[in-house]
Amino acid sequence: MNPSVAIIGAGITGLTAAYRLSQQGVPFSIYESSSRTGGVIHTSERDGYLAEHGPNTLLETSPIIRTLLTELDLGLEQIYSNPEAEKRFLVRNHRLQALPSSLLGWATTPLFSFPAKIRVLGDFLLPRAPSDLEETLAAFVVRRLGQEFLDYAINPFVAGIYAGEPERLSLREAFPKLHAIEQRYRSLFLGQLIGARERRKTGEISKSNAPKLSFRHGLGSLTQALTRQVADSVHTSTPVTRICRQGEIWTVTIQKGESTETHEHSAILLAAPAYRLAEIDWNTGDGQSLRWLGDIVYTPVTSLALGFRRSEVAHPLDGFGVLVPAVEKIPILGAIFSSSLFPNRAPTDHVLLTCYLGGSRDPKLAQAPAETQIETTLKALRQLLGVTGQPTFIHRTAYSRAIPQYEIGFGKFRERMATLEASNAGLHLAGHFRDGISLSDSLLAGHDAATKLIQHGQRSNKTHFSLASQTIN
Ligand SMILES: Cc1cc2nc3c(=O)[nH]c(=O)nc-3n(C[C@H](O)[C@H](O)[C@H](O)COP(=O)(O)OP(=O)(O)OC[C@H]3O[C@@H](n4cnc5c(N)ncnc54)[C@H](O)[C@@H]3O)c2cc1C
Repeated sequence: MNPSVAIIGAGITGLTAAYRLSQQGVPFSIYESSSRTGGVIHTSERDGYLAEHGPNTLLETSPIIRTLLTELDLGLEQIYSNPEAEKRFLVRNHRLQALPSSLLGWATTPLFSFPAKIRVLGDFLLPRAPSDLEETLAAFVVRRLGQEFLDYAINPFVAGIYAGEPERLSLREAFPKLHAIEQRYRSLFLGQLIGARERRKTGEISKSNAPKLSFRHGLGSLTQALTRQVADSVHTSTPVTRICRQGEIWTVTIQKGESTETHEHSAILLAAPAYRLAEIDWNTGDGQSLRWLGDIVYTPVTSLALGFRRSEVAHPLDGFGVLVPAVEKIPILGAIFSSSLFPNRAPTDHVLLTCYLGGSRDPKLAQAPAETQIETTLKALRQLLGVTGQPTFIHRTAYSRAIPQYEIGFGKFRERMATLEASNAGLHLAGHFRDGISLSDSLLAGHDAATKLIQHGQRSNKTHFSLASQTIN
């Protein structure tokens, strides 16, 4: 057996890991079940519109991301979001209200009532929770900032990121930084101020302040550029169906059309969605299986990109987009003003809105027929943005399992993953089901996984080398 790494899944996690391995001259094969690489990152261009099937923006949260884009020579392609589109809107009383960006703005915004604004200040005085308390994000927010802040700020924010609900997500697992701020500084406001100073020292950028970027031809350019770098080792339409370990040898069974093949590897990176990994027949000789990964909850989401004539949308669309609190009872989770955010998303005198439906708030709607979803979305857009005409462009992507939810108890999954790795040298698991749900989290997880795989290779070579020297002596 030649020492080589098997990477299962060619989403951003697997591709970034592969690219890093290729830089270090470590041999590998990427097995990808679908006919294309990129996973949920997928861009379509049609009739002058550019629609993202999955993510719309990459947050530049780490210098590692900048370095990668420079190495991939994507500088000319890359575009940062329009600075004038920083404004975010929330809905209150069925009307869009801009999220305030200054202290004065917070004091005067109609988004929150006067008692709610006073209640938020309670954060300066409240004690911290016991460090071992596992509470939901909702319980944490109500305790520190009050019910209205939960309903009108955190609920829509969580719908926008997780397509989830604060009543189900674990603070410690889904928002570990928020949990750490309370534990360390007690007050969230004080912690934010001090934490910002510390981040400046390390070069780390918080997600809320990170530059948002994409590419002239959409996020697909990133995964295509990575794929070009590792093309010789990518096997598409090749699902992995079985993985066995005997000593230091990992045998991977892949499906190739009607036939199966087996390949031996010295290490393995599992970077497919958890519910797909759960289906792999796993045999490491100790009775373990991966079936428990199927218990990680994913929410269903439909992404609906709709184009309109500019003259048929009353709102100026002067921002990033709008998020809808559940209490407003409007059936969409929110919409990104895609053509305000990046150029080339819609033809001249047209606009593109990318709307999200479903999530754990309304799983039925996420799986409803296309006509129902389009009709429901149009009704909401007419009400919120003053859309009058019919769409000139429609692109719909329905995910039955889109985004993993780090719910209460999610820690047990992370523990099991760590135990599995500890008992199987050369095994690593990385991606959205473990390392954070954003694209930048997955990219950085792929980068870190490659570092661990390289270290594993160096350790194994050393072992072989010292065994060989012992024999010689
Ligand atoms: C609708 C939507 C919108 C999003 N919006 C944003 C956003 O705007 N910004 C942001 O930062 N993040 C966003 N995200 C999250 C982000 O896109 C993902 O977290 C990230 O892209 C996940 O990458 P991954 O490589 O971990 O997984 P995936 O992209 O799921 O890739 C896994 C790959 O494994 C393959 N695979 C599955 N089973 C097998 C098998 N048996 N053998 C071989 N291969 C297999 C799959 O085909 C897939 O290609 C969004 C996600 C979704 C779904």
